[in-house]
Amino acid sequence: MTEIQKEKIRTLRDQGYGYGTIAKQLDLSVSCVTMHCLRNGLGGKGSTSSREPLCPQCGKPVTQREGVKKRRFCSDGCRLIWWNSHRSMLGHYKLVPFTCRECGKTFMAYPDSGRQYCSHRCYINRRFKGNS
Ligand SMILES: [Zn+2]
Ligand SMILES: [Zn+2]
Repeated sequence: MTEIQKEKIRTLRDQGYGYGTIAKQLDLSVSCVTMHCLRNGLGGKGSTSSREPLCPQCGKPVTQREGVKKRRFCSDGCRLIWWNSHRSMLGHYKLVPFTCRECGKTFMAYPDSGRQYCSHRCYINRRFKGNS
């Protein structure tokens, strides 16, 4: 990694970019950027943490893709391991209230479902109205 790349990483992190985005822009590997950031106190904090949450199982940043349901784990493998080891601790799943982004109705869903709409219909409505 060159000094110029290091400087760029710092600048991009300041602007709130995630590791994945930075890696792509500078043509570096994500792990390389992640390691550099962690070593230099540029780790995910503040605005960036919501953009790229860390996988609760292995601690790697989880790259979120646009238009895809928000991911909490870097991979299905990590998700399964995590749930298998935490299920007994958490007891039964509890439904929590969510507000539909389309019609504003409150609906119940599992906390990790990442649902934003009360129904598929609302989801479709939103997509077609949206900034396509
Ligand atoms: Zn993971
Ligand atoms: Zn709705």
